[in-house]
Amino acid sequence: MVHRIAVVGTGISGLAAAWALHRRPDRFDVQVYEKDAHVGGNAVTIDVPQRDGSTATVDVAVTVCVPKVYHHVIAAMEACGVERVPTEYSVAVHHGGDVHAHGPDSSLRTRLAADFDRFAQVLAVLNRFNMPVTNPTILRAAANPFNYVSIGRVLDLWRVSGEFRVKVLKPMVVSFALAADVFAMPASLFSRYLGFLDVERPSPMLTWRGSTRAFFGNLTASFADRIHTGREVTRIVRDSGGVTVHDASGGADRFDQVILACNADHALRLLSEPSRAERAILGRVRYETAVHGDVVVHTDATVLPDDQAVAAGRSTVVRQYGAAADNYEVTYVLNNLQPWLDGTACLATYNAAGPIDDDAVLARTSFRHVVHDVRQNAFLANVMRFVQGGRRTWFCGAHTMVNSQEHCFVSGLAVARQLGADYPFPDNAPAVRWFNFYGRTAHGRSFRRVADNSADR
Ligand SMILES: Cc1cc2nc3c(=O)[nH]c(=O)nc-3n(C[C@H](O)[C@H](O)[C@H](O)COP(=O)(O)OP(=O)(O)OC[C@H]3O[C@@H](n4cnc5c(N)ncnc54)[C@H](O)[C@@H]3O)c2cc1C
Repeated sequence: MVHRIAVVGTGISGLAAAWALHRRPDRFDVQVYEKDAHVGGNAVTIDVPQRDGSTATVDVAVTVCVPKVYHHVIAAMEACGVERVPTEYSVAVHHGGDVHAHGPDSSLRTRLAADFDRFAQVLAVLNRFNMPVTNPTILRAAANPFNYVSIGRVLDLWRVSGEFRVKVLKPMVVSFALAADVFAMPASLFSRYLGFLDVERPSPMLTWRGSTRAFFGNLTASFADRIHTGREVTRIVRDSGGVTVHDASGGADRFDQVILACNADHALRLLSEPSRAERAILGRVRYETAVHGDVVVHTDATVLPDDQAVAAGRSTVVRQYGAAADNYEVTYVLNNLQPWLDGTACLATYNAAGPIDDDAVLARTSFRHVVHDVRQNAFLANVMRFVQGGRRTWFCGAHTMVNSQEHCFVSGLAVARQLGADYPFPDNAPAVRWFNFYGRTAHGRSFRRVADNSADR
C-alpha cells in the first residue's frame, strides 16, 4: 500500500523528510507545499554579478557547517556530489572606541584579561558535563545540570564582567548562534556553540561550492515535480480517515499523514481544532527578529571598518550603535566566507546602523529565529514527542531540536523514519549514533532506532 504524505515547508527539515520518504516511491507518495517562490526556507541564495561578466550564486544566510558535528549534512552533500570548501569564521567587533577581533591582541584583550581567564574556567567546567561528541547518551544528556540554568546565571556566579559580556562575548555569539538574547541560552547549549566558535581565534568551518540552491536542487532532483512552490497551505483538517490539506489557491487534497516542517506558530495556526497538547506545546515556542529581522544584501564596503588590520579577511564584522550597549549591526562578508567569489564586496548587513545606498542593494529579506532558552531546550523540545504522530500529524524543524542545518536535517529524517522510511546513512557510524540520540530525544521510546553495527561502539 502506498501512503500519501503531505509536507508543509521546504526548509532543510521538510526537504530531508520528503527526500527520505521519496527514496521509496513504492511505499510513499509525497507532495510538498511551499508558500514562497523558492525552495530552502532560511537558506536564501541570490545571483550576484562578477567582474568577468559571469554570475555567481551566493548564499546570503546559511553559509557554514561545522566539520566535526554536521555528519548528516556532510553525508547528504557527499551523496549529492556537492564539494565542501574550507572557510573560516573570523569576527571583528567594534564597540564604541574599543575593538575586539579574532587573532590580534587588542586593548580590550589586555584590559579584560581577568574576564578572559574567568570565561575560560567557566567553559572548562561546562565542558566537563557536556557529552563526548563520539558517544551521546540520553542519560548523560539529561543529567547535565547546565541544561537547566542559563549561561547568564553561570556568568553571574563566576563574576564575569558586564563589559566582557557586551563587548566580547555577546557580539561574537550573536553573529554565530543567530540569537539576540544569547545569555538566556541554557549554559550547556552555549558551551556547545563555544566548542565550535573560539572567542579569541578564527574557527575553521566548511562551506559548499555552488550554493545551497545547488545542494537542494540535487537533493530534490528526483521529486522536483512533487514540490509545489508558491502554494501556501491555509488549513489542515484531520479526521479518522485522513488529513485534508487546503491551500491558498482554493485546492484541497487528501493525505494519510501530514508533516509540518514550518515554524511552530505557523503550524498551530494551520491546524483546525488543534488538541490541547498541540496548543500548549506549539503555542509556547517563541521566535525573535531583534537582530536578524531586517537584512540588506549589498556591495557597499563603507559599512566595513577602514582599518585593514581589523577588517581584512573577516567573515563577520559587528558594530555596536545607538543607546543600548548590546545593539549590534552585523555584517557577514560573503565574499570572504565563500572564497570562490571574485573578491568584489558582497555583504549581508543585519540591523543596519544607517541607510544603505539603494544603488548598492542586491536584495532585502528578513528572518526569524526560534528562541533558545532553558524553557525551549530543557522543556518544550523534550515534550514535543507527546504531539508527534498524534492525529496523523508530525512536526520537524528548528523548534523540535536546535536551530542549525544539521539538527533540522536530522529532525526531518527522524519523522520520515517514524513513518517507515529507511535511514539513508546506515554505514556512517557517528551519524547513526547522533541520529538515534536525537530521534529518541524528539520522539521518545517509540523511536525506530537504526542498528549501530560499528566495531568501535
Ligand atoms: C540568517 C540565518 C543564517 C543561518 N546560518 C546558518 C549556517 O550558516 N549554518 C547552519 O547550520 N544553520 C544556519 N542557520 C539556521 C538554519 O538555517 C535553520 O535552522 C534552518 O533553516 C531551519 O530549517 P526549517 O526546516 O526548520 O525551517 P525554515 O528554513 O524556516 O523553513 C520553513 C519553510 O516553511 C514554509 N512555510 C511556512 N508556512 C507555510 C505554509 N502555510 N504553507 C507552505 N509553506 C509554508 C516557509 O516559507 C519556509 O520555506 C541560519 C539561519 C538564518 C536565519
